[in-house]
Amino acid sequence: MAEIIDGKAEAAKVREETAAAVEAFRGEFGYAPGLATVLVGDDAASATYVRNKRRSCAKAGIESLHHELPGDVSQQEIVSLVEQLNERSDAHGILVQLPLPKGIDSRAVLNAISPDKDVDGLHPVSQGRLMAGEDGLRPCTPLGVMRLLDSIGTELKGARAVVVGRSLLVGKPVALLLLERHATVTLCHSRTEDLPGEVGRADIVVAAVGLPEFVQGEWIRDGSVVIDVGINRLEDGRLVGDVDFESCSQRASHITPVPGGVGPMTVAMLLSNTVTAARRLATR
Ligand code: NAP
Repeated sequence: MAEIIDGKAEAAKVREETAAAVEAFRGEFGYAPGLATVLVGDDAASATYVRNKRRSCAKAGIESLHHELPGDVSQQEIVSLVEQLNERSDAHGILVQLPLPKGIDSRAVLNAISPDKDVDGLHPVSQGRLMAGEDGLRPCTPLGVMRLLDSIGTELKGARAVVVGRSLLVGKPVALLLLERHATVTLCHSRTEDLPGEVGRADIVVAAVGLPEFVQGEWIRDGSVVIDVGINRLEDGRLVGDVDFESCSQRASHITPVPGGVGPMTVAMLLSNTVTAARRLATR
């Protein structure tokens, strides 16, 4: 039976470390790191996510600068706000909550964020820096995945890792972060032939597919580490991941639960990225 990787506990550690880093930063520079959040429209889920992020900032001692725009705002107005935030010396990170209302090109808005303040790590420059192995801000969920692997002392060097899903948000950056740490990485997707065979060769499986309980226990190797990035709400209201937890936990050595695995790590890494961005801006 697999050991559960406790994402809540690890996220709490990251938050504590971040709060200490904020204190040290304040002592050194005389001001706190600041995160600007931009919420467009009245999507209830987005409003909740932003509220949680702001609350988490406050707990860690990070200043939160919040901006709300109506749902019928033009793309140019959002971009103008982002450009103002790029110039503000008290905003070290900028987060535009997705999804944006229909008709707005999210890419154009995200691309307007200064890469130095891109705490979500989704700007093409941030992605290019990751690809090139250069210093830069990395996307939060992939960082959370890496931190969870490290929390249980997973040997990454030479390990065979299979990432299922190739999105810009999760799959591709996770694959690059694993590669940077010298894992041998296979990136699978909807056109992969013999997915069970690929997964079966892995020491580490990261599932970011968006299909409830998709990865089956019979696919995975005994003793592998399984990280489930998925968040799916079933019709009966249950929240499940992209991994069939029951069957996979029979074979894995370690596994993340949903909820309580990768999910809590994302906001924790956002806070940590904000301090990283502030320090880089303060010392360049
Ligand atoms: P996405 O953009 O929809 O990407 C899904 C990926 O899965 C695509 O690359 C797709 O392949 C692949 N895929 C779909 N069906 C497949 C199949 N039958 N076999 C193999 N691969 C298949 O999703 P995402 O944004 O990466 O998110 C993935 C999951 O993570 C979702 O459940 C999401 O809710 C969750 N998530 C969680 C967090 C968190 O904080 N915990 C953050 C972000 C996302 P193609 O490219 O070929 O279409």
